[in-house]
Amino acid sequence: MKQLYIDFDGVIQDTMTKTYEELDKKGIDRKDQEKVTEYFRNLDWKKLIEETDVINDSINEIKKICESKKFNVYILTHINSTNEMIEKIKYLHKHLPQVTVVSVPKEIPKTEVVNPSAAILIDDYSGNIKEWQKKLGIGIKFVRELENGDYPEITRLSQVIDMFNQ
Ligand SMILES: [Mg+2]
Repeated sequence: MKQLYIDFDGVIQDTMTKTYEELDKKGIDRKDQEKVTEYFRNLDWKKLIEETDVINDSINEIKKICESKKFNVYILTHINSTNEMIEKIKYLHKHLPQVTVVSVPKEIPKTEVVNPSAAILIDDYSGNIKEWQKKLGIGIKFVRELENGDYPEITRLSQVIDMFNQ
């Protein structure tokens, strides 16, 4: 079975749209790294996760991936605070108890926490995929609409099932 890592923000839940809206409302410039980091450190993730929509039926799509028995499935997510880690784990444990959650501190690349070699990463951020491929992993970009970009793209998570034979 192949190792399959799935990103959370922008792939499972649309948390970034919501937080960017709030940053705008608070008048925080997204380029002001210090203020943005502080905002994320203090964010109430329980509330955010409750109020945020899942993307393209992602929870059920991941259940289908698990049922295919082709992959060892992990959620690989960057976190800014312990609160964020706790609330993401609680949410995922409730909806996808069969899946392991790997939380990565924002300051560290995902490739330094898990071994990308021959493993698959589904992520909405090209930077993560680029890094992943550099370390001999297989990167797939999750997109809302096909972009015909530099990486293989999917719009629904279960599409990964037919991309691999074993
Ligand atoms: Mg993401």
